[in-house]
This record gives sequence, C-alpha cells and structure tokens, in this order.
Amino acid sequence: MAFKLPDLPYAHNALEPHIDEKTMQIHHGKHHNGYTNKLNAAIQGSDLDGKSIEDILSGVSKHAGGVRNNGGGFYNHSLFWSVMSPKGGGTPSGDLGDAINKTFGSFDGFKDAFSAAAKTRFGSGWAWLIVKADGSLAVTSTPNQDNPLMDIAEEKGTPILGLDVWEHAYYLNYQNRRPDYVGAFFNVINWEEVSKRFAAAK
Ligand code: MN
Repeated sequence: MAFKLPDLPYAHNALEPHIDEKTMQIHHGKHHNGYTNKLNAAIQGSDLDGKSIEDILSGVSKHAGGVRNNGGGFYNHSLFWSVMSPKGGGTPSGDLGDAINKTFGSFDGFKDAFSAAAKTRFGSGWAWLIVKADGSLAVTSTPNQDNPLMDIAEEKGTPILGLDVWEHAYYLNYQNRRPDYVGAFFNVINWEEVSKRFAAAK
C-alpha cells in the first residue's frame, strides 16, 4: 500500500507573485514526488508497509535514515501545500486567533516569532506552529526534513502550519533573500485550513 503524491489544491501559478510557478512545478513535481517514491521504496516489504505516515514518523528513530528523510519529506510537503491558498493571508479568527493572541500577545507577536524561527534555521529545514501535548501552541523549527511528530524532535507536537526554508523552496525567485520569502508567505497562509488542523489536534 504505497503513499501517493497528493495533487496540489490549486494551479502551479496560483500563488504568484509570492511563490512563482516554476518553483511550484519543480518543488511539487520533482522534490515532493522524489520523497514520495523514495519513502515507498524504503518501506516496501517491511513491517512499516501499510502504517500511517504519522505512526511511521512517531517511531522514526528505530527506522533507517531513508525513512526519516523521505517520510519527513512526504509528510512536510503534503502539509505545506494545504496550508497555502491563493485566497490566503490575513489573520486567523475564532479559537485559533484567540489562542495565538493568548500565547504570543498578538498576531504580530506570533508573526515575529515564526519569522525568526524561519530566518534563523541554519541551512535547510522548516519552521512550525505546533500544538503540544497539553494543547498549548508553540513555534519551533527542525533541520532537514525532520518535523515535530518525530520521536527525535527536540520539541514535539502536532504541526498545524509549516514553512519550508530549503533553498529549493525559494531560490529561483528570491535567490539568497530568505527573509523576503518568509515575509511573502504570510500573504498566502490558508488560515481556514490551519484552524481545522488546530481543532483536530487539540
Ligand atoms: Mn521542499
């Protein structure tokens, strides 16, 4: 039972000018597709075959390195496409908006914390907004294709928003200007989807 590359929920050019069409084509069609195929190859015929990706990641320290890198890559990008939308941006409302204000003081406080996590992640990795086991929110970051579901993560929780800060995510359009890419991401965040993930994780 193989994992399947999810379709993008919008056209490749739908997030322009914030994320360009060519980057989306390569990022989804080559990078994410590659992680998916390599994950399937790594688990084929093993006792991980048929398990959910969340189950696999929660015990990732026990598995071969290819499962960590490609399982993380499969999960992280699947989440990433879903938390962006051409109709995104703005600020979250309802329970998530309240929780963000309570945790970070204000939406701008959250934006500063998340942006700092994304900008200061050295090399390749991800910035996250997570729901911890006690239901509280936190901003964190992970290297490479690790994520907070993994048993090896320094800070664990359920990711509800993630930003890919690998150079492959922004280099064609932004070159070395990661801070500009991080700022542009806020114009496409799909807060409706993040709110759904928040409600499910609590
Ligand atoms: Mn990526």
